Amino acid sequence: MIAFKITFWLLALISFTYAEEVEEDHLSVSERLERANRNVVRGPDEPHVVDDIAYVSEGERNADPCTSRGCLWQKYSDGLVYVPYVIANHYTDRELAVIQRGLQSFSSSTCIRFFPRRNERDYIYIQSHNGCYSYVGRVGNSQVVSLSRQGCIYHNTVQHELLHALGFNHEQCRSDRDQYIRVLLQNVQSGLEYAFDKINTLNQGTPYDYNSVMQYHKYAFSKNGQPTMQPYPDPNVPFGEGKEMSKNDILRVNRLYQC
Ligand SMILES: [Zn+2]
Repeated sequence: MIAFKITFWLLALISFTYAEEVEEDHLSVSERLERANRNVVRGPDEPHVVDDIAYVSEGERNADPCTSRGCLWQKYSDGLVYVPYVIANHYTDRELAVIQRGLQSFSSSTCIRFFPRRNERDYIYIQSHNGCYSYVGRVGNSQVVSLSRQGCIYHNTVQHELLHALGFNHEQCRSDRDQYIRVLLQNVQSGLEYAFDKINTLNQGTPYDYNSVMQYHKYAFSKNGQPTMQPYPDPNVPFGEGKEMSKNDILRVNRLYQC
């Protein structure tokens, strides 16, 4: 017990300055998402969530919301796409800084500009709910982007959930994924197979990217320690290790929004 306490305080001390960097080094975005979303119980005020994607209704999850609903955010006459946000006031300064860094990261490489909401109708509302999740694309009015203080406050998880809110699905769900990966459903935890459903995605001429921040890691949702996905044809190339938005992630944002 004493050892545990010492470890705890040491960890707490270290975590203040180093945790993010250390974690950034060895955890992929999907490991974080899986960890943060494992066994969470959603509150009555939370949306229907599957994996880390929220849905307006339960029957909608296989559709591509962007093609059926026109879920892009509005482009203004200056060619920039302004996405209003509100951040709940329950984050610490350090957590806020990580979230802000994620929001700002889109400004340097894309035409997306997240900005504090004034009176805009549609906006993202970043809050610490149970786990990390987001809707795919603009839903209308206030839409939650859940970044739980327990496990979601990292640069790549923030970017990942914001990319969902901008209209992107997971890499392994791309319509053309069978040319690039093998999904090994026999190793997937029962009831979680939907995380590997193919979606009729709009791929915009960008290549499948093993290191997209939207690509889950090889062992995502494994029930037996065996891989649930393998890159194909070469199973040994780096895979699912995205630490931040890749060049292709950025290219896709720019193509989708015609930046
Ligand atoms: Zn996701």
